[in-house]
Amino acid sequence: MNYYKIDGLILYKKNIKEKSAIVYILTQNLGIIKGKIDGLNRSESKLISIIQPGNFGNFFLSSELTFFKILSFLPYKIPSKVFKKFPYTYLWALKFLILFNFLSTSPKFFETIVNLDRYLLKNKSSFLIWYLKIIFEELGVLPNLTHCSECGKLLSGNVYYQGSKFYCYKCRKISYDRINFTTYKLMISFLKEDRLLDLKNKFLREIFKKIFKNHLKEISL
Ligand SMILES: [Zn+2]
Repeated sequence: MNYYKIDGLILYKKNIKEKSAIVYILTQNLGIIKGKIDGLNRSESKLISIIQPGNFGNFFLSSELTFFKILSFLPYKIPSKVFKKFPYTYLWALKFLILFNFLSTSPKFFETIVNLDRYLLKNKSSFLIWYLKIIFEELGVLPNLTHCSECGKLLSGNVYYQGSKFYCYKCRKISYDRINFTTYKLMISFLKEDRLLDLKNKFLREIFKKIFKNHLKEISL
């Protein structure tokens, strides 16, 4: 039996039989790990109130091969404010990460996810787009919105898109949707910025959502 101490953020908790649970934990160096807690949901369990999605802290684990057991958890941070305002979006965002099987995370990404509640509280309406953007960035699959997908030319002027791909005026087809250059420039500055910028333009938010959803489908094929 091996023992580990590691900092991690609880992404999701799945109850299993015999009142036990599997907990998905995001760590910086091991990526997402799964730990089992025997009897978590029994009334005498001391951990039940603190083993909750969004809590960040230090875990003490035992393992045999790739299977972890959670022995104790000391929380550093419990994000209660976000649960009062946007509980569903926050829980969804944490659980969403499980889809990607991160085997490790960059320090910057890890820190952002640990503080995800603050970003959501700051700007709910642009949160989803920004969140998809930082995940694409971390995975190295941010869609190419700066150059024409057909001829490779740097886009300047009105642009056209189909699915998650952008095209110049020359390469466009009649069915493609158009984005005017002012709106397009706002998109590019949003993509370049680390901070969560407020996308006030609702039309722009809708385009982003459409493009990112298409991109998500394309990369998960
Ligand atoms: Zn082109």
